[in-house]
Amino acid sequence: MCKIIKVLINIAVACASASVTILLYNYFHRERNEVIFFYGQQPTCDYHLGKTTAINTLQIGKCYMCKVYKIIGWLNESRSTLDICMYMLTYNLFVNAIIDAHRRGVKVRLIVDEDNVSTTWKLGTMGISKKVKRKIYNVNLMHHKFIIIDNKKVILGSLNWTIKGVHNNWENTFLTNDFKLVGPFIQEFQRLWNEF
Ligand SMILES: [Zn+2]
Repeated sequence: MCKIIKVLINIAVACASASVTILLYNYFHRERNEVIFFYGQQPTCDYHLGKTTAINTLQIGKCYMCKVYKIIGWLNESRSTLDICMYMLTYNLFVNAIIDAHRRGVKVRLIVDEDNVSTTWKLGTMGISKKVKRKIYNVNLMHHKFIIIDNKKVILGSLNWTIKGVHNNWENTFLTNDFKLVGPFIQEFQRLWNEF
C-alpha cells in the first residue's frame, strides 16, 4: 500500500514539475510575431502632425510615423547586440535609434551595400562597427534588409530604412522571435561579416 502511495506521489510530482517547466518555458519563450504594412501614400496622425498631444489609437494603423516609432520601439528593446544588414539606410530616425543603442552599450554591427551616404558615414565616425560590400562585387547588390536583436529576435521584410520606404511605398516588415528563423539569420550575418 505504502509503495503504491509513493508511486502515486512520484507521478504527481513528475506531472507538477512538467507543468511548471512548460509554464516557465511559455513565460520566458513567448512566441512573438508582429507585422507592419506600409500602404503607399500614407496619412500622418494628428499627434505626429503636432495638432494634439494625445495619440488617437484609431489613427495608429494608418499613420506612417506611428509605424516608424513602432519599429524604433523594437530597436530600443536591444540590450546586448544589434546586427543590422540594410541595403539603404538614410532615414535619420532609424539612424538615431542605432546611435541610442550604441550609447547605452549595445554592441552594434552594420553591413551595408555601399558607404556613400552621410548617415552611414556618421555611424562609422561614432565608433559603430561597419562592413561594406567588397568592391569586387560591384555589380551584385547587398540587398538584404534584416536586423537581429540580442540574437533572439529578427526584423525582416521589404523595407529599406529610407523616408521614401516608409512614406511612399507599399512595404512590409515584421519581427519574430522564432529561433528557427532567427538562427539562420545569425549565421548569415556572421558569414557576410567575415566575407566583407
Ligand atoms: Zn502617428
